[in-house]
Amino acid sequence: MSQDFYREQIASSGYYDQLKHVVEPSIQEFESPGSLDTSGEHDNTVVPGLEHKYAQTGSLLVTDRCASYCRYCFRKRIVGKDSDEIAPDFAQVAQYIGGHPEMTNVLLSGGDPFVLSTARLDKILDHLLPITHLESIRFGTKMLAYEPKRFEDSTLTALFQRIDEAGKTAIIVTHFDHIGEISVDAERKIRSLRAQGVQFLNQSVLLAKVNEDPEILAATFAKCHQIGVRPYYLFQGRPVKGASHFQVLLRRGLEITRGINQRLSGIQKTFKYIMSHYTGNPRPGRRWPRVYAISSKQGSRKIGKIFSRPHVEAACWLDDLPEG
Ligand code: SF4
Repeated sequence: MSQDFYREQIASSGYYDQLKHVVEPSIQEFESPGSLDTSGEHDNTVVPGLEHKYAQTGSLLVTDRCASYCRYCFRKRIVGKDSDEIAPDFAQVAQYIGGHPEMTNVLLSGGDPFVLSTARLDKILDHLLPITHLESIRFGTKMLAYEPKRFEDSTLTALFQRIDEAGKTAIIVTHFDHIGEISVDAERKIRSLRAQGVQFLNQSVLLAKVNEDPEILAATFAKCHQIGVRPYYLFQGRPVKGASHFQVLLRRGLEITRGINQRLSGIQKTFKYIMSHYTGNPRPGRRWPRVYAISSKQGSRKIGKIFSRPHVEAACWLDDLPEG
């Protein structure tokens, strides 16, 4: 059903030829080299299903299912599989978080948390809401692009209200890669949820053939801003095995981000262009032709370490750049 909605939406948006690559399998997937864990998720897993890479944030894998399947998915090792990386025991997760007062927010992810029933999400919250040092509960989801009808479920109102009454903020992190994915239905649901106190952020992935165009991304971020969704991350595509053909050259990525910024007003320029790398979230910066980055790896390692590497023409990822 969600595939039908998405197909109709991208066709009526006028961007079918670009957006079909989000969901349509391609022969290139068999030839794309890479890794299935580009960001060191396995190494940062502290109890089954919970990653603790950044001191303040826990990333909780609640399901291995999504409403559809993005061909560029960075969690190909999990999504659509019966993965043993999904949290089996939320009491154990809560016990870990309870012992880590530095963790102030948890991101429910997977997979897409909104494929779970609201009753199931409520049960997960039973474990998380009593933790006093948690300030916000985030939900990472592409459901507003694939199936906004999911948010017609009236029991969600009570779920978000519970989060509010527990003194925490509910944040939905949408995943719109392209203005053609932002349907009238999605806009309506977002406005209604905002009126219930839910905050919204958006993350996008820079994708060859889909959105490697400053005009498109600026229009996407401007639309997000208009409907009350703060553009948050623009991810450099990761070298995922079976999906690295979606990567855009770093040189082009920097040109695109400059082009986006030229088209947005100051209050719309809230996105960060980052690589979600093993070392943290390096942000390709200025001073071309060197690539400057700030490592944000936390936990046992130093944060905010500024480093640079010389640019090489074919580079799409930090590891493609030589040290020195
Ligand atoms: S929504 Fe996220 S986790 Fe789900 S298939 Fe797409 S990229 Fe993968």
